[in-house]
Amino acid sequence: MSVRHGVVAGGGIGGLAAAVALSRRGWRVTVCERAPVLTGIGAGIVLAPNALRALDSIGLGPERWAGHALPGPVGLRTPDGAWLSRTGTGAASARYGPPARAVHRGFLIDTLAAALPPGVVRLGVSVTGVDDAGGSAVVRTSAGDLRADVVVAADGMRSVLRGQLFPRHPGLRHAGEAGWRAVLSGAGLPVRSAAETWGRGERFGIVPLVDGRIYLYATAVTGPGTKPADHHAELTRRFGAWHDPIPALLDRLGQHDPDPVGILHHDFHELASPLPRFHSGRVALLGDAAHAMTPNMGQGGCQAIEDAVVMAHVLAGDADVPAALAAYTRARLRRTTRISRRSRRVGEVARLAHPLAVAGRNLAVRATPWGVTSRALDTVLGWQPPSGPVPTPPSPVDIQEQP
Ligand SMILES: Cc1cc2nc3c(=O)[nH]c(=O)nc-3n(C[C@H](O)[C@H](O)[C@H](O)COP(=O)(O)OP(=O)(O)OC[C@H]3O[C@@H](n4cnc5c(N)ncnc54)[C@H](O)[C@@H]3O)c2cc1C
Repeated sequence: MSVRHGVVAGGGIGGLAAAVALSRRGWRVTVCERAPVLTGIGAGIVLAPNALRALDSIGLGPERWAGHALPGPVGLRTPDGAWLSRTGTGAASARYGPPARAVHRGFLIDTLAAALPPGVVRLGVSVTGVDDAGGSAVVRTSAGDLRADVVVAADGMRSVLRGQLFPRHPGLRHAGEAGWRAVLSGAGLPVRSAAETWGRGERFGIVPLVDGRIYLYATAVTGPGTKPADHHAELTRRFGAWHDPIPALLDRLGQHDPDPVGILHHDFHELASPLPRFHSGRVALLGDAAHAMTPNMGQGGCQAIEDAVVMAHVLAGDADVPAALAAYTRARLRRTTRISRRSRRVGEVARLAHPLAVAGRNLAVRATPWGVTSRALDTVLGWQPPSGPVPTPPSPVDIQEQP
């Protein structure tokens, strides 16, 4: 049997994870990334136990993330610094196996890219469409056509391929909030734990990264397209009087990062409704292209990695591609739809603004023991990768020598 060729549109977390997973199953892979460099610009990401298990199943085991543990306690606070809910990382990790890891996105992207055979990623190449001719597919790109046995649409929440395959789908909707993200040096700052602080219609998150850097994020209820003229001034106005170390972090952000480009600011979007399926013929959608969700549960990237592992699993051996991708939809659509809905509901609660509603919410969170909160996440964090041995990947030389 000749080696089959997969073309992946998009070199983000999902696309690179798919490329690694397919390579390990013996596929020849080409990743087309429209950006001139692979980048996980300026922000951190939390890899939950489900994603770590998925990564482990494609050869990116726990030792790669070992230095990136979240220092405990981890939890929720109010703007005056009181804890609403918290746990040590030990308790969380005991329940789900590998404890969550906080990494810089650049590190995650580099780790995935380094696990690929050389020459797989083509930078500066945009995918513009796909023709599925039955026996194989033709991927239209800015650098010419590519023939593929399977096409992976991992081109993010504004996916061109989703638009082509599901022209009647309503696409994205604004989630009612916008968020800021930044990574800065935490040297000398009293940051000892990861926490998210819930105010009235606003949230602030602090996530210590390896090497003393701090990933911080903040959210606020805003309408679509609302862009403050000065992000640092806006963050200080909203959060400058919140508990320590938030004021010190904002000061540091101002000193180190006067350039507003260093502070990322985005409206939050999600798919207006679930797609009817995650495949069409030989094309599979994955990650934000398939199920763009709000970031409230920190699961968008984790689900993209799960998608990649499941997709490569169903495509193992000489599986019939369209039939395998139908199995992929069966395995992924319901789970990701549930998590997207749950993420939306978490956001609705987290961004409550009316004082009475906020007081009731805080009371309820305080009264809920961590064990109960934790058990409620079992179906999300307790996910296991599909079983069955992963074949040894062919060496890079073998892959390149294929016709
Ligand atoms: C504020 C915030 C915080 C978050 N925190 C977390 C978290 O802690 N944990 C977590 O798991 N998730 C988190 N997420 C979600 C996570 O960032 C996304 O779900 C994840 O990045 C999706 O990966 P992806 O590969 O599907 O898409 P993307 O990361 O968007 O990658 C798509 C890639 O495709 C490329 N591309 C686009 N169009 C084309 C084209 N036509 N041709 C070629 N290339 C193309 C793009 O340049 C990009 O590189 C967060 C999101 C936000 C907004």
